[in-house]
Amino acid sequence: MTRNENLLIDLADVQKSFRSSDGAARTVLGKVDFTLREGEIVALLGKSGSGKSTLLRIIAGLIPADTGRVQYRGHPIFGPAAGIAMVFQSFALFPWLTVQQNVELGLEAQGVPKAEREARADAVLELIGLSGFGGALPRELSGGMRQRVGIARALVTNPDVLLMDEAFSALDVLTGETLRNDMLELWDDSKIPTKGILIVSHNIEEAVMMADRILIMGSDPGHVRNEITIDLPRPRDVDSLEVRALIDEVYALMTMRPVQEAVGGSPVHAHLGYRLPDTDISRMEAILDLLADTPFEGRADLPQLAEEAELSDEELFPIYEALGQLALAQVEKGDIALTPLGRRYVEADQVLKQELFGQQLLAHVPLAAHIRHSLEQEPSGALPEKRFLDLLEEFLKADEAEHVLKVAVEWGRYGEVYEYDYHTGRLHLPEGAHDEAETQD
Ligand code: ADP
Ligand code: MG
Repeated sequence: MTRNENLLIDLADVQKSFRSSDGAARTVLGKVDFTLREGEIVALLGKSGSGKSTLLRIIAGLIPADTGRVQYRGHPIFGPAAGIAMVFQSFALFPWLTVQQNVELGLEAQGVPKAEREARADAVLELIGLSGFGGALPRELSGGMRQRVGIARALVTNPDVLLMDEAFSALDVLTGETLRNDMLELWDDSKIPTKGILIVSHNIEEAVMMADRILIMGSDPGHVRNEITIDLPRPRDVDSLEVRALIDEVYALMTMRPVQEAVGGSPVHAHLGYRLPDTDISRMEAILDLLADTPFEGRADLPQLAEEAELSDEELFPIYEALGQLALAQVEKGDIALTPLGRRYVEADQVLKQELFGQQLLAHVPLAAHIRHSLEQEPSGALPEKRFLDLLEEFLKADEAEHVLKVAVEWGRYGEVYEYDYHTGRLHLPEGAHDEAETQD
C-alpha cells in the first residue's frame, strides 16, 4: 500500500455504455483512466455529452462501470461510499424540509444520533455562511444560498472526497464566484477535512481559478484528451497574465479539433468544435421541416433527402453538420434522423424555436458559450468582437477566423444568446439577460 497511499480515487480502463431508446448500446465512456490524489483539486472540462457527469456518478457509486478498475483508497467502489460526497448543479434539496433538516439528511443515513446531527449541522451552516437560516425553507432562499445548503449537506459528512457537478453553473456569475471563493478558502485554510476535490465545470475560468490539474474530455466515446497542470498558488488573480494565458490555452485546446477525431468519418461525422459550418439558419430549418414530414417522418436516407431538397451534397453537408452539432439531428450510416429535441424544434412556434436554438448553442458550441460567458463577466455586458477574433486567430487563418465569428454572431443573435452592434463592432448581452445577472441575489 505504500506506493499509492496518497491515491484517493483510482480509475483505470473504465468503460460505460448506455442503451438508447431504440435498444442500441452507446459507449459513453471508453477506456478512461483517472486519478485523484490527496491535496488535489482536479477539474474536468469537456463538451456537453462527453461523459463528465457519468464519470462523477461512477466515482460516487451511483452507477457501476461496465468494465475497468474503480477504487477509493485502494478498495473497489460498489455503491455510495461514506467518504465520498457530491454536490449537484440542481441543488437537489427537499422543498418540504428546512435548511437544517436538509443538511442533517446525510447524517441520518449514517445513523448519527439526533443531538450530534444538530450540532454538526449547526457548525457546518456557520462555516458556509448560513447561520441563522436553519429554520428556513429552501424556497425562501436565493439560488446562491440554496447551493450553500447543497454544499453544507455534502460537507456535514466530513467527506474525504468531494465531487461537484457544475455546482456553480446554475448561479449568476457574481454569486457563483463568491461561493467558489468561499469554497477555496475553506479548502486552502484546511477548515474542512476533505482531502481531494473533483469539480466538473463548463466554465474555463472557474477551472483555471480552482484546479491544480485540469483534464479536458473528448467525446464519442468520452475519454481524457488533455491534461494541464497548474502550479500557481491560490488565491489566483483572474486578471493576471498567467491566468489569462492559461484560460486561452485551455480554450484553444477545448475547441481545437483533435486529429484522430477528424479522420475516418465522412465530413458529416466530424464534430467540429470551432469551425462552425457555413450555413444559414433558414436552410437548416427547411431541412428539419423536410425531414419531419412525409415521406421521411423523421429519418431519411441522405441521397434521398438530397433529391427531395434539390440541394447538392456540398450545400447539404454543412447543414447536416450544423444540425448534428446542435443535437437537432443525427447522422449515422448514411441516414439522418431527427433527435427528440429536433422533433420538438420542428413543432415549436417561432419564440420557442429561438429559445431552443439558444439553449443548444450554449450547450454544444463552445465558442458561443465562451462569448456568452465572457460578456457575463463584463460589468458593461459588452466586448469588442476583436477580442474573440484575436483568440480565434491563434489557431485559424485570419479569413477563417472572421468567417467563424460571423457564423457564431449570426447564430447567437438568432438564439438571443448575445447581440451584435454593426456600428461599433461590439458584442453585448441581450436586454434583460444583463439586468438579471446583475440583480439576482
Ligand atoms: P456530460 O456531463 O459531459 O454532459 P453525461 O455524462 O451527462 O455528459 O452524458 C454522456 C452521454 O451519456 C450523453 O449522451 C447522455 O445522453 C448519455 N447518458 C447519460 N446518462 C444516461 C442514462 N442513464 N441512460 C442513457 N444515456 C445516458
Ligand atoms: Mg453533466
